[in-house]
Amino acid sequence: MAIATYHCPACGRDFAADRPLWRCECGGPLELAPGRGLSKSDIAAGEASLWRYAAALMVADPPQVSLGEGWTPLVRCDWQGASVYFKLESQMPTGSFKDRGTAVMINHLLEVGVGPIHEDSSGNAGSSIATYAAAAGIPCRIYVPNSAPRAKLVQIAAVGAEVRAIPGTREAVTEAALAAGGGSFYASHNWHPYFIEGTQTLGFELWEQLDFRLPDNILVPTGYGSNILGLERGFDALERAGEITARPRLFAVQAANCAAFAASWSAGADGLVPFAAGPTVADGIATMHPIRPAQVLRALRRSRGGVVPVAEDEIGPALRALGRLGLFVEPTAATAAAAVGRLLRDGTIAPGEVTVVVLTGHGLKAAERIGELLGIFAE
Ligand SMILES: [Zn+2]
Repeated sequence: MAIATYHCPACGRDFAADRPLWRCECGGPLELAPGRGLSKSDIAAGEASLWRYAAALMVADPPQVSLGEGWTPLVRCDWQGASVYFKLESQMPTGSFKDRGTAVMINHLLEVGVGPIHEDSSGNAGSSIATYAAAAGIPCRIYVPNSAPRAKLVQIAAVGAEVRAIPGTREAVTEAALAAGGGSFYASHNWHPYFIEGTQTLGFELWEQLDFRLPDNILVPTGYGSNILGLERGFDALERAGEITARPRLFAVQAANCAAFAASWSAGADGLVPFAAGPTVADGIATMHPIRPAQVLRALRRSRGGVVPVAEDEIGPALRALGRLGLFVEPTAATAAAAVGRLLRDGTIAPGEVTVVVLTGHGLKAAERIGELLGIFAE
């Protein structure tokens, strides 16, 4: 493993990733310098987790903490007359895709020496970080919106983390986490560059599971964009090793009621533009202020993909249709399935192409809300 280096695009500085750090001294988000790339021969094929790609990751191997994250199923189904692959990130140790980023970030933090940590989250990242902190024996405090689904709060508390429910907006939760003191490190999945080092393994896995070919299209529910940035980083790594020459089109799927990237996309902007936000059942992607908007928009443009806003009344039917295929996911994940139908109908993607829909979180995370959405408890 090479010595990892951080780069700050805001001030241009480079420095060694040798201590817990979640942003640059100038306040900008950090990027991790490219790794060595990933070749077929680097894969530890006997390892049924994301650590099969450890050779390409900027952390020591074997990891100090692992719960078997990654190597999730890729299931081919008929969806509205087309053949679509669903990537079941819902089948991670804590039930969401976040475990890829968390596992790699926590192992990095253990390497460079970290004490108690805290984080703010709408739920899934909080439960992921609380779980890996527990496995690592690190004290952990999670700030959550008091409107977060109860199952996620229970999950965080059940693994022994302290839960701080904050009233008001999602931004108020972040402010509370930023104000936290007491020598605790802000292990933010949205800020820390090692989180994206972990989510890149989604790209490696899709490539390997499709017999070392990349799909034509990938649809991802998108709040802050860590999967979009991870896929981009993963494809960069494969390209550096000479394993790929073409890249998939990346489509960021958002809830139309809270769609920062959709607003920027339709304005043709390189960064965030003002937009009106309302409530959405897709709580996992209701993001007002993504931290790396320019990078996410650039990745989408580079891939010739786009942003797909999904209306609230499209989410329930998609969730129900997924359920009929045996795929029980949370409303946030169902947005991507709703979006693939739209892209097929309007001809943006073709039924003969290889299309992957990333299902980011398990239905048990939001069982009560799904019950309401599908009218399961109605008279
Ligand atoms: Zn800087």
